[in-house]
Amino acid sequence: MSKHTGLYPGTFDPITNGHLDIIKRAVKLVDYLVIGVAINEDKSPLFSLEERVAMVEAETRPLAGDGGAEISVRPLKGLLVKYAEDVGASVILRGLRAVSDFEFEFQMVGMNQRLNPDIETVFLMAGAKHQAIASRLVKEIARLGGDVGSFVPEDIKRMLTDKFAS
Ligand code: ADP
Repeated sequence: MSKHTGLYPGTFDPITNGHLDIIKRAVKLVDYLVIGVAINEDKSPLFSLEERVAMVEAETRPLAGDGGAEISVRPLKGLLVKYAEDVGASVILRGLRAVSDFEFEFQMVGMNQRLNPDIETVFLMAGAKHQAIASRLVKEIARLGGDVGSFVPEDIKRMLTDKFAS
């Protein structure tokens, strides 16, 4: 049986319990999971690329193996489809939240199918408790001094507090 590599791309600024929920589902579907941390300069991320890669690595370490996929966390540069080809991914995994995600994802899939018809995009939904979590809102709450403890892991909460304190 051939092995399948999946690519889960995102900005992960920072990684949330929503992303982790999707990753827990993704490792059941593929043999290798590459988590591509996008540079995304134009989104002006709060955390540097190095910080985001380190955070994703630390938080996903417990989710790999044990019958699930091997996980590799890498910086993602350039065109998504080209990057997927370079890492040998046959599947791009994306999380889907509310209707708001749909239009953007719909267009992306349409374009990506034209660029490489052999790569399929698969959408996963987080469990009800994690569906509404968005990095953007987590940052906003942390910036205003709110408790983000139920949206992100403990280490990420600490890093957010430190970031806004400095
Ligand atoms: P991007 O800039 O590519 O949207 P994000 O880090 O915001 O990067 O998200 C990466 C992926 O994770 C996207 O497919 C997004 O829809 C998904 N995602 C983020 N949060 C959630 C969540 N709470 N539930 C389901 N999917 C999510």
